[in-house]
Amino acid sequence: MQKNTVNNDEEKALRDKISGIDRKIVVLSGKGGVGKSTVSVNLALSLALLGKKVGLLDIDIHGPSIPTMLDMTQTRAVSDGYEILPVELGDIENLKVISIGFLLEKPDDAVIWRGPMKAGMIKQFLKDVKWGKLDFLIIDCPPGTGDEILSTVQLLGAGVEAVVVTTPQEVAAADVRKSLNFCVKLGLPVTGLIENMSGFVCPHCGRRTDIFKTGGGEKTARAFKVPYLGSIPIDPAVVDSGDEGLPLVKRLEHSQSAILFSAIAEKIIINNTLTNGIEKLQTTAEETMKIAVPVANGLLNAHFGHCDTFAIITADKTSKKITNREDVPAPPHEPGLLPKWLGEKGVETIITGGMGNKARSLFVEMEIEVVVGAPIETPEKLVESYLEGSLKTGENVCDH
Ligand code: ADP
Repeated sequence: MQKNTVNNDEEKALRDKISGIDRKIVVLSGKGGVGKSTVSVNLALSLALLGKKVGLLDIDIHGPSIPTMLDMTQTRAVSDGYEILPVELGDIENLKVISIGFLLEKPDDAVIWRGPMKAGMIKQFLKDVKWGKLDFLIIDCPPGTGDEILSTVQLLGAGVEAVVVTTPQEVAAADVRKSLNFCVKLGLPVTGLIENMSGFVCPHCGRRTDIFKTGGGEKTARAFKVPYLGSIPIDPAVVDSGDEGLPLVKRLEHSQSAILFSAIAEKIIINNTLTNGIEKLQTTAEETMKIAVPVANGLLNAHFGHCDTFAIITADKTSKKITNREDVPAPPHEPGLLPKWLGEKGVETIITGGMGNKARSLFVEMEIEVVVGAPIETPEKLVESYLEGSLKTGENVCDH
């Protein structure tokens, strides 16, 4: 994690600036493309249309999409000699926007920055921008749980909240749980979860069809004991609005999706995690976890790559008891397929005899823990001793 060294004057300037902002909300998602920026823009605008003073900050340094969504790719932020002036959106004076895109010389300039520079830029966004008094600062973060988000949360200090955006498919892929577990680890209160691209609204008849199984977001919210803020359907008008640079809630104020965004904004105003008491809405960690063990003849199969069946064991994290075992045939032996396949099943840990380094790194990328060198035992025995912390592992058995 990048440590933010802030000298005393800078620290004071930062604190002064932040003290003028009532609620600071980071918008998170497990991966890209789920509509996090779309939600950030439409929520910021909905809050502004409800009369709130709103700042919208795009810290997606590698792929700032807010300028495109607001048709402001040619817009450059200017300074009054002391501070950077945020950009206003036409006649909506109570919405102020800042994105790295407004500071680049050319709109298509690539930004190749290392950790410290990124942290420095985020600090500048918070400290040197003339935000003024704000009711809400909505921060569109990069996808995942990387350093930029950590830096932002650290710089903002106490009183940051998170809104997590997911899609029905992402719920199945476990990415959203990573975002929620990240909030648990940081002690970030979660204002709520939004399921985007949830069902399809026909532009002709207005009827909604659930293409993918919906409702997973609500279930996940319940599992983590965080509020469910609502679902936004797949709506071609959302894409058109993004392309045309006028967010849906402004372009089609009376459309179903715009009304849904506005309803979510109202819930956010009411779900004030700070005045409602953080404890009440404090996220709780997921209670169960899934552990996969490759098996052959009922025991651990030491040759991970050749395994035909996986025992997927569900265990209660608190009581450390096994609550379920499901034996699933392995997918076809294709390079790189297993990590994705197991990740989609919600597996967090694999216990195995051996695994090649290449495969191991693929699991690490998926944030799946790999325990190698486990003895040949029943999956239950291995999982129980792993949960108790008494699993004895030996050498990584060669997998070739
Ligand atoms: P992220 O910020 O998570 O990467 P974006 O907000 O950039 O995702 O959205 C990715 C694409 O999906 C964009 O083209 C956007 O217009 C589209 N999109 C997002 N939400 C919806 C929706 N509810 N209906 C239809 N298209 C959507």
